[in-house]
Amino acid sequence: MRIAMIGTGYVGLVSGACFAELGHDVICVDIDPAKIDALENGEIPIYEPGLDEMVSRAIADGRLSFTTEVSEGVPGADAVFIAVGTPTRPEDGHADLRYVYAAAESVATAISGFTVVVDKSTVPVGTASAVTEIIARTRDSSEFEVVSNPEFLREGAAIGDFMKPDRIVVGARTDRAADVMREIYKPLTDQGYTLLVTDPESAELIKYAANAFLATKIGFINEMADICEKTGADILQVAQGIGLDTRIGNKFLMPGPGFGGSCFPKDTRELAASARETGAPSRIVEAVVTSNDVRKRAMAERVADLLGEPIRDKRIAVLGLTFKAETDDMRESPAIDIVGELNLQGANVAVHDPKGMDIAKSVIDGVEWAESAFDAVRDADAVLIVTEWNEYRDLDWKRAKDLMNRPVVVDLRNLFDTKVMQELGFIYASVGRRAVGRESERV
Ligand code: NAD
Repeated sequence: MRIAMIGTGYVGLVSGACFAELGHDVICVDIDPAKIDALENGEIPIYEPGLDEMVSRAIADGRLSFTTEVSEGVPGADAVFIAVGTPTRPEDGHADLRYVYAAAESVATAISGFTVVVDKSTVPVGTASAVTEIIARTRDSSEFEVVSNPEFLREGAAIGDFMKPDRIVVGARTDRAADVMREIYKPLTDQGYTLLVTDPESAELIKYAANAFLATKIGFINEMADICEKTGADILQVAQGIGLDTRIGNKFLMPGPGFGGSCFPKDTRELAASARETGAPSRIVEAVVTSNDVRKRAMAERVADLLGEPIRDKRIAVLGLTFKAETDDMRESPAIDIVGELNLQGANVAVHDPKGMDIAKSVIDGVEWAESAFDAVRDADAVLIVTEWNEYRDLDWKRAKDLMNRPVVVDLRNLFDTKVMQELGFIYASVGRRAVGRESERV
């Protein structure tokens, strides 16, 4: 099949490369000439494991190319995917659909022959209809159909998620359009992966409902972790105990600093805003949004709590800036709130991240950018672990302790066994588990 991908960001580039790997001819379009230039020169603008090799392979095989012009990519395509950003509109919490609508307008000018226009961006219920209206201003309805095909990939594991999906959701009104989508995904359905055809509205809501459910799971386990800290229970034991119930499941029960990233925060906000407007408000999703916002801001307090004194003029090393490991994405990362709060309280903050430093520089300031984790922890009064990079899990913590001014570690990702950290001589606090090593607890 011939596929055009409008928007060559995380989703567009990964989907484009994966479709090419599946044997389709793909052209990725983006309005950002610097991004297209970089891609044409073999540079991958994001860090995503395995993407580099996959893109090079697809280019070498002549199945993947890049352009800034819809007029090059769209005519003759069987399907045109819209994979542009849908960030939060700050004034009302809704997804900002202006990029989707602009993409739809440009696609309308360029399609030829019957074309399926696919909303792959995460968009609220009703967007397939709105995109249909936009294209219908220029094109006869016999020339195209808009379908919804939400994407469920996770950054850091994007290729695996795309090539081995839990499900593929296609929201289509006619068999003709659904059949084009079935043909595109045939290499995956032939391997036994499930393609679910729904109406477009349901497909659109499936994406929001899935993300809101997962965000709720995180918000829930985070609040349980808070209760553990107040009562002496241990969140890992609690998570295991509830996760063995197959109705609950053992995934996504790891407490942390609150969810960030380019999806959960904005998608929960959008769902809450839309639900309110439809007259069916979701009090659960609203509570998840609030609970997470409060949590991210409160994380910095844990350092002063463990130190037992204000952090003004103390050197605090922050390890990890990206919203999770194996990505360089900084969008809505908890580290942004946490570092902001540490700065506000007058700490001298040194930060390190294995992959996210360059991008972090555009959203974080007033810090020392350490070249290595050891440089960050040198002379630190406390270390705060924000992202679960393996590099920190595997760090020589004995050496780190020797470099530190005080052996204080606040671990927001529960990377370590508390006993091991205590034996190494750390004063160590994690999430939902008892802190160890404080004077009052020494025997
Ligand atoms: P992104 O910001 O990484 O990429 C969007 C790209 O679209 C940019 O390169 C931008 O230049 C380009 N663009 C904007 N307007 C354009 C236009 N008119 N024509 C051509 N290109 C245009 O965004 P992303 O993270 O890939 O997210 C895209 C969508 O996918 C969002 O709706 C998001 O919610 C959804 N999604 C993202 C993920 C994820 O993990 N990032 C996962 C699932 C779904």
